[in-house]
Formats: sequence, structure tokens, C-alpha cells
Amino acid sequence: MIKVAICGVSGRMGQEVLKAVLRADDIELCSAIDVQNVGQDVGSMLGSEPVGVTISADLAEALALSGAQVMVDFTRPQSVADNVKTALRAGVRPVVGTTGMSAEDLQEISELADKLRLGCVIAPNFAIGALLMIKFAQEAVKYFPNVEIIEKHHDQKLDAPSGTAIKTAEAILQRRGDFQQGLAAEEEKIECSRGGRMPGGIRIHSVRLPGFVAHQEVIFGDVGQTLTIRHDSISRESFMPGVLTAIRAVMRLEGVVYGLENLIFE
Ligand code: NAP
Repeated sequence: MIKVAICGVSGRMGQEVLKAVLRADDIELCSAIDVQNVGQDVGSMLGSEPVGVTISADLAEALALSGAQVMVDFTRPQSVADNVKTALRAGVRPVVGTTGMSAEDLQEISELADKLRLGCVIAPNFAIGALLMIKFAQEAVKYFPNVEIIEKHHDQKLDAPSGTAIKTAEAILQRRGDFQQGLAAEEEKIECSRGGRMPGGIRIHSVRLPGFVAHQEVIFGDVGQTLTIRHDSISRESFMPGVLTAIRAVMRLEGVVYGLENLIFE
């Protein structure tokens, strides 16, 4: 049995992870952390029978008392780096879904995980369909170098653009290399109307509206034709097989693996 703590358990993703962990035969929930619903049993929070794990606000204490081997984090961009460092220092392997971490934080976490020889999985997107979208986009860009990304999320999302959009652009840039896209003399009449521009020139457009979960289109254009690769997470359940795969895999890893694709594609 892998003993797992869930940080951010009261949130939208945290509750979904909680249900998936409670259903898994080889994973045991040993601790639950959040700043919301402190003191409440997690089963009662879901509206079902108590399961004997109450929500704690103190991550370091919860990890130390519970004997957790893995910490799953779905919290906030402002909290995630500290949570991950706290887990690593407690000898606990992080599986991180929270997006919006800075490059400096990623570097620091990577060095800490290497030093402590602990596995850590950081994945901007746990949905297999989203990973395939990125893989197919890397293939398409060989033939269609002109590309823009539109990502759409619910209006409670804190960071923009999404971690998935940044990762898609980075993956495309790896294959595309230097390329001058669009009209150099283009003028924006309204600031940012052409979206955010990644180093390397790819534009990302972020839509935030109630009703969306997590959606992305990668649009390639060429003379007389366009090609759109699109992925839609219509329910947060879409992320759970990937989260469970990462929990199992992180037990045998050393150092940071950034991106679930590195665990599931050959
Ligand atoms: P959410 O509903 O706001 O849930 C986050 C929860 O964590 C809230 O209950 C929040 O409390 C709590 N929290 C904040 N700081 C904390 C801390 N230091 N310690 C413990 N708990 C803390 O957010 P969500 O929709 O679940 O999304 C969470 C993250 O996952 C976001 O970054 C989102 O982009 C990401 N995400 C990733 C994937 C993926 O596949 N990787 C998929 C979907 C979402 P307060 O509300 O009081 O802050």
C-alpha cells in the first residue's frame, strides 16, 4: 500500500483526487491538508460516511504524524513551491498538479529532490488526451510552422496562460526552432489583443468563463488550409488515471520528472 497525503483536499481537484484515492486498492489515504474545512472528516466533506481522516491545516505536522510516502498537491500557485519543499524535506515524494510555479522554484525543487534522492512528479496536465495533443502538435509543426494556441478554462483559474499551454508552446518550439511568424509591422489597437507572446514567437490566447473545465486548441495555418488539434477535459475525472499513475511511479523515481508524458510514452 502506498500511503498518500492530499494537499488542497477541499478544492475542486483535491476532492476528485480524494475520491480516486479512496477507490484505489493499492493506495491508502493517510492524511488530508487544506486551509478550508479544517477538522472535518474527508468522507463527511464528500457527503458520505466518515473515513477516519480529518483535514489538517499544518502540512509539516500532518506529514510527520501520518507516515505519508507521497504528497499530492492541488493548491494554489502561491503555495505550491513551499508545500513541495516541505514534503521533500520530510522525506515525502511530491506529485504536483498545481500550475503556475516559476522557473526559479522549479530549479530549486529539482536541486532539492536530487540532493535528497527523492522522486517528484510535476505535471501541468494529467489528462492523457492533453498529452497526445502536445505529441501530435510536435508532429504537425514539422509541416505547419505557423501556429497559435487558444486555451479555455473556468473563471476561477488563478494563472494565465495555463501550464498546459506553456508546455505545448515549449514542445512546439523545440521542434520548430527559429521561425518568423506573422507580420512584423502588426499593430495592436487594444493591448494584448493578439494574446501573450512566448519567447520564440508563439501566441497564446486565454479565455476564462464559467462552464468550461480545461480546453485547448492548437491551430496550424498554411496556404488555403488550417489544421486544429483540440482537447477538452469535460470533467475533472479525466485527470485521475494520470494522477494515480504518477503516485505509483514516483515511488521508484529519483529527482524531478516534469510532465506525465515522460512516464507514459516510450
Ligand atoms: P481550488 O478549487 O481553488 O482548490 C485549491 C484548494 O487548496 C483550496 O481549498 C485552497 O483553499 C487550498 N489551499 C490553498 N493554499 C493552500 C495551502 N498552502 N495548503 C493547503 N491548502 C491550500 O483549485 P483547483 O481548481 O482544485 O485547482 C488547483 C490547482 O490545480 C490549480 O493550480 C489548477 O491550475 C491545477 N490543475 C491542474 C491540473 C493538472 O492536470 N495538472 C488539472 C486541473 C487543475 P483557498 O480556496 O482558501 O485558497
